Amino acid sequence: MIRLDDVTELLSKHHPGADVEMVRRAYVFSAAAHRGQTRRNGEPYLVHPLEVSHIVAQLRLDAPSVAAALLHDTVEDTVATVEDIEAQFGKDVCFLVDGVTKLEKLNFHSAEEAAAENFRKMLIAMSRDLRVILVKLADRLHNMRTLSHLPPEKQKRIAQETLDIFAPLANRLGVNWLKIELEDLCFKYLYADEYRELADLIKKTRREREQYIDRVNEQLDAELKKHGVKGDLNGRPKHLWSIRQKIKISGQAFDSLFDILAFRIVTERLSECYEALGLVHSLWKPVPGRFKDYIALPKPNGYQSLHTSVMGPEGERIEIQIRTEEMHQFAEFGVAAHWTYKEGQYGMHHRDASDKFAWLRQLLEWQRDLQDPTEFMEIVKVDLFADEVYVFTPKGEVKAFPRGATPLDFAYSVHTDLGHETTGARVNGSIVPLRYELQNGDAVEIIRTTGSKPGKDWMSLVRSGRAKAKIRNYLRQETRERMVLIGEELIEKEVKKYGLSLTKLRRSGKLAEVLSKHKFRTEAECLVALGYEKIRIDALLPDLVPADKLEKGPQEADSNPFAKVFKKFMPKREGGIVVDGMDDIATVFPKCCAPVHGDPIVGFVTRGRGITIHRKDCVQVGNYDPARRMDVHWDSQSRLLRPVDIRIYSVDTPGLLASISQSFHSAGVNISAVNCKTSLDKRAVNNFTVLVNNLDQLRKVISMIEKIDGVTSVERIAG
Ligand code: MN
Repeated sequence: MIRLDDVTELLSKHHPGADVEMVRRAYVFSAAAHRGQTRRNGEPYLVHPLEVSHIVAQLRLDAPSVAAALLHDTVEDTVATVEDIEAQFGKDVCFLVDGVTKLEKLNFHSAEEAAAENFRKMLIAMSRDLRVILVKLADRLHNMRTLSHLPPEKQKRIAQETLDIFAPLANRLGVNWLKIELEDLCFKYLYADEYRELADLIKKTRREREQYIDRVNEQLDAELKKHGVKGDLNGRPKHLWSIRQKIKISGQAFDSLFDILAFRIVTERLSECYEALGLVHSLWKPVPGRFKDYIALPKPNGYQSLHTSVMGPEGERIEIQIRTEEMHQFAEFGVAAHWTYKEGQYGMHHRDASDKFAWLRQLLEWQRDLQDPTEFMEIVKVDLFADEVYVFTPKGEVKAFPRGATPLDFAYSVHTDLGHETTGARVNGSIVPLRYELQNGDAVEIIRTTGSKPGKDWMSLVRSGRAKAKIRNYLRQETRERMVLIGEELIEKEVKKYGLSLTKLRRSGKLAEVLSKHKFRTEAECLVALGYEKIRIDALLPDLVPADKLEKGPQEADSNPFAKVFKKFMPKREGGIVVDGMDDIATVFPKCCAPVHGDPIVGFVTRGRGITIHRKDCVQVGNYDPARRMDVHWDSQSRLLRPVDIRIYSVDTPGLLASISQSFHSAGVNISAVNCKTSLDKRAVNNFTVLVNNLDQLRKVISMIEKIDGVTSVERIAG
């Protein structure tokens, strides 16, 4: 069994000067928290976090990661809280524990390949810090190692999930040894018979195989030495899962034990890789088409090596990989390798600039620039998939969007009608404005108001093609509908002057005649044309109205029907505020200064509440970030009523309150609240909250009240 000292020794080996003391405290904390808990196999629960912390130390992670591994189940399974952990171990450890706990809550049951890939991306994107993923992988590895204690159907489910999600994730991060062990454990539980068969075969041929490996190594070693190339040699069977996959792909059972062997030469310098390759090819005949230069063209996860197959000493095919020590470290530890190399010397050649794994290269580059490992840690809190964001639906499904997407993109991706009727959104439980940019890991919930409609500025709020197309369609349709109404109204108004109506014209067939004469296919087409003024009503009138009636002239005069009609159907702006020429923007009036129409105002973009409108002279204005300031002005059309607090100092005489109320009434101002206090010296302070249309009205009513006998002063108060 692992002891804490094993963990701290390993940690200190890879990170001299690491905070071992903190790791010890984490151990004590975890032991106390898990006290009395046991795992299914009867062991104390503490064994699990301890083993996980050892794997994390093997992954060469730092002290906070090792501490987090020890603590990783305390928040989920014990009474300990995230706050406790932060108080005792600081922000860094707390962040990691919280991250692992959150990953635990994700639902990974969908085994569908596309979904699995999304989840993998999601996992990476969500955790923002690769250490969270690595601790999670360590946790999963230990759970897989101890899987035999679970009931069979649970074993299968967990193994499948591991094979779908976690092994590929380990591969993505380039941590080869972890990937291999996970895959073989999954193999064991998912295909038990096949696994046993293959494992037995490998066991049986062990002696023979080892002798063969020695023979190959001897010859290789002699050849390298002769030419002064330094290289470590290693030969071993490939891992079982990869053998199984190879059999599945080739469709043939392996007939030679050599097929399952892989040899490796690890050199000191890059140039020696190619020298060694030349020597291997001069020693044994290469198999055509089997040479791969992953040094010049690394695999997407950053893996670099030369691969070749040759006809070995006895004419059988063997595979040989050749790479430098750094490349080997990278192959085994992947991203984690960087924690140990302060001066990265990876000579990677990246030719494909559009490679979507740019993040990994970026990591390498950062590594080169940064001497201080703690600074590196800061930067490793990566933004991995820069072009996409992944968010959750309320049901826990993952959806991908282009970066910069907003809640509207989300709504339209669910359903067109939901998109159209979106009036707000909640992200992680808080209301956000519709222009909020979705962030990785956001849980998004759409607020829908039945019957509400898309706004004109929505086109500028969405990023996804689907949402754009849906909104464009809607707006086109909506304009058309409005034009039909305008057209109808125009005809109606005009023909009414001659004692006719649209209904009559329709019924008599007169309208149909007119339509065909003017080459309109449908009535709507004609109405739209009228609405857009493509055709004038005057042009239709002689056909709609009988000549005798037309000659008599209109029965009533009605000047400029068009303007009147148009006004009726133009959208009305609500809210009373124009923001930089945009409408449909949520505005909020704070209590502090209660601006009314006419007050000089200024707006500030607030998170989650749209734009807050203050009077320019409000004391609060100084508290805002000037970058959030927006130019706003009152909409001249607005008839918005705004509450204002007015304080009136007066003598305390009967009937005064009635006079004041009368003044408000005659100024057309409604009172929404009153609060009056009198003092012993016969003075009164009367606070009124009134609803006013604009500043002029407010000024007028104040001056009226000032004139009342007994009123000493009147003031508008802020908040
Ligand atoms: Mn665990």
